[in-house]
Amino acid sequence: MLYPSPKRTEIYSLPYPIESPDMNYFARLVCTYCGATYAKNEIHNVCRQQHCRLPLFALYDIPHQLSRNVLTSRPKNMWRYREMLPIEGDKNIVSLGEGFTPLIHANRLGMKLGMSRLSIKDESVNPTGSFKARGLAMAISKAKELGVTKCAIPTAGNAGGAMSAYCAKAGIEAYVFMPADTPEVFKRKCEYFGAHVTLVNGLITDCGKILQERKNTEGWFDVSTLKEPYRVEGKKTMGYEIAEQMNWELPDVIVYPTGGGTGLIGMWKAFEEMEQLGWITSRRPRMISVQAEGCAPIVKAFEQGKEFSEHVEHAHTVASGLRVPKAIGDFLILRVIRESHGLAMTVTDDELMDGVKEIAQSEGIFAAPEGGATWAALKKLHERKLVMPDERIVLCNTGSGYKYIEAIK
Ligand SMILES: *Cc1c(COP(=O)(O)O)cnc(C)c1O
Repeated sequence: MLYPSPKRTEIYSLPYPIESPDMNYFARLVCTYCGATYAKNEIHNVCRQQHCRLPLFALYDIPHQLSRNVLTSRPKNMWRYREMLPIEGDKNIVSLGEGFTPLIHANRLGMKLGMSRLSIKDESVNPTGSFKARGLAMAISKAKELGVTKCAIPTAGNAGGAMSAYCAKAGIEAYVFMPADTPEVFKRKCEYFGAHVTLVNGLITDCGKILQERKNTEGWFDVSTLKEPYRVEGKKTMGYEIAEQMNWELPDVIVYPTGGGTGLIGMWKAFEEMEQLGWITSRRPRMISVQAEGCAPIVKAFEQGKEFSEHVEHAHTVASGLRVPKAIGDFLILRVIRESHGLAMTVTDDELMDGVKEIAQSEGIFAAPEGGATWAALKKLHERKLVMPDERIVLCNTGSGYKYIEAIK
């Protein structure tokens, strides 16, 4: 076993709520940039308008406010928010028990900064050891529903592992493209799940290019972050869970390690949806986007007041999930940060690895380097008095540290 699965104590034979089979409010797809709409239940990637080609969002027609009480009897995984998920038939749900990860009160860590209301959303306990499981469970379920037989993905490691696992479970062929310098464990894991793995001399964006060139002739469905509309629907459930676990009052601050930005964008989408459902008020957290010094396109664009980011040359960081030189959803990430009155900031690789150690020693959580980055960032925010000691703060530990062992000293 490559990582522990401490959450597997329940039997997930029915990942969806049984009182209302197939119930969902999914209505259509809409372009996040130009507003063009598309029918649901056709295969789509990005917007087809010639000068657009930007991400699509799933939109829901909420017929009436929904009582939060419907949730009480439902299984503790991400499918409990069934009405607001885009799968039409329960029979198409491909689940390994992802989601409803613990929100852990980080009292010992918080004490270091005099903060008594610090928590860690611990995504390391998801199937395949990272929060990529949420997005890929949703994307592969939808791909299965739409009759897709081959899926392809560019990856820094975790997304490929998650896609390979869900494809194995769904009986879909998996094609994974990863940088040649990705730690061996990620590659072998994909291969064990039966995926075809191609190593690329370059970065994740180069992997994406190769996939683009070959996908039509090979008949692959492209599952790249935000180049298909459903991974973000899986990741948004993190936002639903944080609200539910905090008794429907959102925190003051959420600190998120940002690569492609799907989780940050997804949580913000979840907050809007929950307000429409009548589950929360219009109060929102400040969203803090953390990037590594060696690859910080969002931080640069944020500081320069730009709408889009620029491609980063020679991107490097041990936190491979953050090594995204140019994100297709950059303008969405920047929108969320600004709307929320948050900010974007960098930490160095040394700082984020120290963060991993401190989280481990204070909280007993073995975080991924990306998770370590959130604590490193919080210390700086505290120093600069950009957060107050009495605020409710959530750090997102997006994955498990085990897979990075060979990359860290
Ligand atoms: C992919 C990944 C990230 C970045 O997530 P995005 O939603 O793409 O910004 C952060 N941490 C880990 C462990 C990841 O695998």
